Amino acid sequence: MAALTLPIAHGGPRLYQAPLPEWYRSATDEELAHKIASARERLGSEVVILCHHYQQDGIFRFADFTGDSFKLARLSQNKPDARYIIFCGVHFMAETADILSRSDQVVILPNLTAGCSMADMADIDQVERCWQDLGDAGCENVVPITYVNSAADLKAFVGRHGGAVCTSTNAPRILEWAFRQGRQVLFFPDQHLGRNTGRAMGIGLDEMVIWDPEDDFGGNPPDLLGSKRMLLWKGHCSVHGRFTVEQIEQARREYPGIKIIVHPECTMEVVDAADAFGSTEFILKEVGRGKPGDRFAIGTEINMVHRLAQTHPDMTIFCLDPVVCPCSTMYRIHPGYLCWVLDNLLEGRVVNQISVLPSIAQYARVALERMLENG
Ligand code: 13P
Ligand code: SF4
Repeated sequence: MAALTLPIAHGGPRLYQAPLPEWYRSATDEELAHKIASARERLGSEVVILCHHYQQDGIFRFADFTGDSFKLARLSQNKPDARYIIFCGVHFMAETADILSRSDQVVILPNLTAGCSMADMADIDQVERCWQDLGDAGCENVVPITYVNSAADLKAFVGRHGGAVCTSTNAPRILEWAFRQGRQVLFFPDQHLGRNTGRAMGIGLDEMVIWDPEDDFGGNPPDLLGSKRMLLWKGHCSVHGRFTVEQIEQARREYPGIKIIVHPECTMEVVDAADAFGSTEFILKEVGRGKPGDRFAIGTEINMVHRLAQTHPDMTIFCLDPVVCPCSTMYRIHPGYLCWVLDNLLEGRVVNQISVLPSIAQYARVALERMLENG
């Protein structure tokens, strides 16, 4: 079998995913589930399994705790008993867990190729160049805010430059905090979360500008930059970019009275057309407040929407996009990988440890702690 050797962006040495041994690739779902359950039992409180809402069912069923990025970040900070934190999510989430957990705890990502295409849309060289350009354009009171969907070295950049991390849960509070610290906000890497949150706070589109990292001064006339309150990095999520206003209109035509809830990574037009928007945990709670017979069309990843529909069989719940594919990187956390990392722990070996370099972790922690204090 060819090795999975995709290099990934992160705040540590370059990591490569070892090929999964044959047994884990050919075992049936039942065999894997049985082996995971028995390893989990033998490891007991040594291990805690944290799981994002987008994980596939074969993983989700083994979660000790589930959540959105914010809840999982807090859980990583507050799980003192477990020596090993197995993080079933994507790479930036596992890095955050490593930064926030105790230094003697070990964070494991079952498949090292589980990255985030949006997080990869901003790298440290581009952000350093942007900062230099902003200085050259005379913008001296800029607060950098990074969405948690970013590599640890970007979080460290933000920590070093007086900024903070935000998640989809606390973006409004963190933006309010940022505007108390400075006059302008550089928001990366998700333009949509930045724009949707800024608009909800009353910031006009004419006060925002897109920053294209491919171009000098982000593709803007330098003398224009100082007049803008928000500089929005040109990044996006390809999963949430699939949702459209037409899908919302069709759902409303077919199901009168339906409630449309979308994630803030969707475009502004989609968020405006929806009834509500918020993090995955927000969506979960909104649907949880529904009554039998209620109808919901959801604009987020399909594994979570399917699970919501299964959990609430007395409601009509479906994904806005009928052909939406799962987040392909979240999907790389296959039960075979979870089983493999647990079996290695049983044999006294740690595989797939996520370990952010101390020089990066130090400042990334500053930015994360600002988020936890103010968000
Ligand atoms: P949440 O923090 O809302 O779970 O979002 C994470 C994410 O990556 C959504 O695409
Ligand atoms: Fe990244 Fe989008 Fe997947 Fe979320 S859904 S992890 S933003 S690629």
